[in-house]
Amino acid sequence: MNKAMNRYDADARPAADERHDVVVVGAGAAGLNAALLLGRARRKVVVIDAGQPRNAPAAHMHGFLSRDGLPPATLLELGRAEITRYGVRLVRGRVEDIDHGFSVRLEGGPVLEARRVLVATGLRDELPDIPGVRERWGKDVLHCPYCHGYEVGDQPLAVLGTHPGAVHQALLLRQWSDDVLFLPHTLDLTAEDRERLEGRGLRIVEGKIDHLVVEGGRLRGIELADGRVLPRTAAFLFPRTVAHDELLTRLGCVKDDTGWITTDRTGRTSVAGVWAAGNVIDPRAQVVTAAGMGSAAAFAINADLVDEDVRHAVEQYRASAAASR
Ligand SMILES: Cc1cc2nc3c(=O)[nH]c(=O)nc-3n(C[C@H](O)[C@H](O)[C@H](O)COP(=O)(O)OP(=O)(O)OC[C@H]3O[C@@H](n4cnc5c(N)ncnc54)[C@H](O)[C@@H]3O)c2cc1C
Repeated sequence: MNKAMNRYDADARPAADERHDVVVVGAGAAGLNAALLLGRARRKVVVIDAGQPRNAPAAHMHGFLSRDGLPPATLLELGRAEITRYGVRLVRGRVEDIDHGFSVRLEGGPVLEARRVLVATGLRDELPDIPGVRERWGKDVLHCPYCHGYEVGDQPLAVLGTHPGAVHQALLLRQWSDDVLFLPHTLDLTAEDRERLEGRGLRIVEGKIDHLVVEGGRLRGIELADGRVLPRTAAFLFPRTVAHDELLTRLGCVKDDTGWITTDRTGRTSVAGVWAAGNVIDPRAQVVTAAGMGSAAAFAINADLVDEDVRHAVEQYRASAAASR
């Protein structure tokens, strides 16, 4: 791989009069795949990326056909190299604001002008305040059985009851191991929850979690406030997911009653010219899904630009036909 192609174009300060067809905000799987399609469609594209993809704490990425087990950073490096091959500019930076024009203002001052924008800024996982959780997040403290369940299959596992979603997560996880403890911690389980968990073969262990026992750079167990230590090799929890959707919110994009930005199937938001893709609009999107959402958005954005280009071309055609009469 050509190393120079991986690098962010850090000095790419925009010329004041430069107008891009599309500014893509975020270069995770969603933003990069959109940029790849748009670059190949010979659009003038710039991608602005703050460089903090959600799965950065994990050593391996799973469930992406042909890329299963690849380090997440390598996928993004490959993607960055691919988009720059098609003339897409990649700038390391953070977008602070987008106005309706679209003027895209970066932290530190530069402003990029764009005909369309795609916001692919992902989300952040808010973790419970249990000592050891942050340290082991993405390693042996996990959230997604489809991403990491296979790797910890048949091992002694625990699900930490820090979010109502943990019950469903635990019922799923039982698919991968028959030794799963459910620790309600601060969660009030209903009688139905208990019946479903125990019926599915999970053991419920009451008591408040004090901390995770981490030794030799690995999770060894979970210590409860009463001093009991439960030996475990991996723990799952359901984080609170918070979309990085401030740019979309400020533009006035409509949200649904659960607080997530609404789009059509291509990622088109309620604001004309503004698309969104990936985890910023769907917390369930895996890497391959986010990439697919980016691709769908790119198709729709290019079609929208073609419509506008045709409108302008017809206006000019009519004007020159009228002038030559
Ligand atoms: C620990 C962990 C492990 C995971 N493992 C897997 C796995 O094995 N397989 C799998 O399929 N999925 C996995 N996932 C899920 C995966 O992380 C997401 O599916 C994927 O990251 C979504 O891609 P995205 O492009 O929407 O967002 P991201 O990858 O998060 O990319 C968003 C980008 O936008 C940038 N950004 C945000 N705001 C701004 C701004 N204002 N200006 C400029 N840039 C900005 C961010 O810095 C980031 O670089 C895992 C998640 C976690 C937390």
